[in-house]
Amino acid sequence: MADEHYEVTVIGGGIHGAGVAQAAAAAGYRTLIIEQRDWAAETSSRSSKLLHGGLRYLETAQFGLVRESLRERNLLLQLAPDLAHPLRFNIPVYRDMRRRPWQLVVGLSLYALLSGLSSLSRFSISRSAHAALRTQGLQKVFRYWDGQTDDVQLTRAVIRSAQENGAELLCPARLLQASQQPDGYQLTVEEGRGEEGTQESLPIRQLQTDYLVNCSGPWINQVLGLVEPLPQQRNCELVKGSHLVIREKISSEAFYLEAPADGRAIFLLPWGEHSLLGTTEQPFRGDDPQAVAVSPQERTYLLETAHHYFPTSNFTVIDEFAGLRVLPSGDNRAFERPRDCVLHLDPQHPALLSLYGGKLTTYRKTADKVLQHIRQQLGPRAVRAATDKLPLQV
Ligand SMILES: Cc1cc2nc3c(=O)[nH]c(=O)nc-3n(C[C@H](O)[C@H](O)[C@H](O)COP(=O)(O)OP(=O)(O)OC[C@H]3O[C@@H](n4cnc5c(N)ncnc54)[C@H](O)[C@@H]3O)c2cc1C
Repeated sequence: MADEHYEVTVIGGGIHGAGVAQAAAAAGYRTLIIEQRDWAAETSSRSSKLLHGGLRYLETAQFGLVRESLRERNLLLQLAPDLAHPLRFNIPVYRDMRRRPWQLVVGLSLYALLSGLSSLSRFSISRSAHAALRTQGLQKVFRYWDGQTDDVQLTRAVIRSAQENGAELLCPARLLQASQQPDGYQLTVEEGRGEEGTQESLPIRQLQTDYLVNCSGPWINQVLGLVEPLPQQRNCELVKGSHLVIREKISSEAFYLEAPADGRAIFLLPWGEHSLLGTTEQPFRGDDPQAVAVSPQERTYLLETAHHYFPTSNFTVIDEFAGLRVLPSGDNRAFERPRDCVLHLDPQHPALLSLYGGKLTTYRKTADKVLQHIRQQLGPRAVRAATDKLPLQV
């Protein structure tokens, strides 16, 4: 990189950073994205890998989020056919469950309406869905469609698309400091990755940027803490979600199960030749987001739910992973808190925008909203491409 001046610099190479870099580069801005570990190394490799509206968010009346997510799901299925596919979901309803059949009819009808009555919006009701599914007390099985992706491959495809549209990539490289200047920020960046356990000093680089976008996921407030003068931060909570990778492929369809312990929704999903079982919601109390790990209690909770519905099936755990959701702080259960992405601005820092929370499914729409702020601040450029037309390839 000969010229060290950028119009837009993005911190964080997860799905949001990738999406913002793609949108900014496609809109004609000289763009740089900086990632400290690897593309999709953190939350964006630890999701449930669903492109979905989030049927369960209807219970907390997040209709706008569900409609936007369903539109983006449908668009991604078209733009990235090698990376995203429709997946049939089954919701078994038992006599002793909290959610009643009429509630599911209402919920799925609303889900169909919010998805614009697309080809994936049809749902059906059946007597059973799987030979091994517990039949005692089973009333009905509701069947509907959503989408599945590989979160790592999707993020990397968006990064490639950003690069093809002119974005420059810097990875591994860590932002150490961002000092506000009259016309943007001066950034201090440490390049490379030192040997673990050594105190090796790494090359330091100074860069200038007109606009800074903080897409550092669970590090969001830590990265804001690197900015001088210190900007306002939002109160947020990091909530852990864990998944188990199960050796046995229980089904090529997905199951949406109500955990007997607390009524939460648990997914049993096909994952290549295996299955994926998740997820949980546990407050994360540590200081280092990289230290997040599956606890024995979460393992037991997930396996008990799976055995409850598939009592004769084997669930051999061959891998596991945990990720962190960034949710607004609150006294209510994590499940009840909004899952929208919040774009945070501080009037004293008009060229700095931070993304709190959000969903994999809506990354492109979120990036579009970020772009509107960038345009307001920097003015428009000659547009190279529109992200809703850019195909994404493996
Ligand atoms: C358990 C769980 C399940 C989920 N399931 C789904 C799902 O099925 N569908 C869906 O749509 N959404 C899902 N989500 C939400 C989705 O996964 C996240 O919203 C998304 O991955 C967050 O991406 P991100 O880019 O904001 O953060 P991340 O992917 O965490 O990226 C942030 C990046 O910033 C980097 N970084 C931090 N500090 C610095 C620094 N100083 N310098 C340089 N780089 C830095 C980090 O290394 C990291 O790679 C789920 C989330 C969780 C936790």
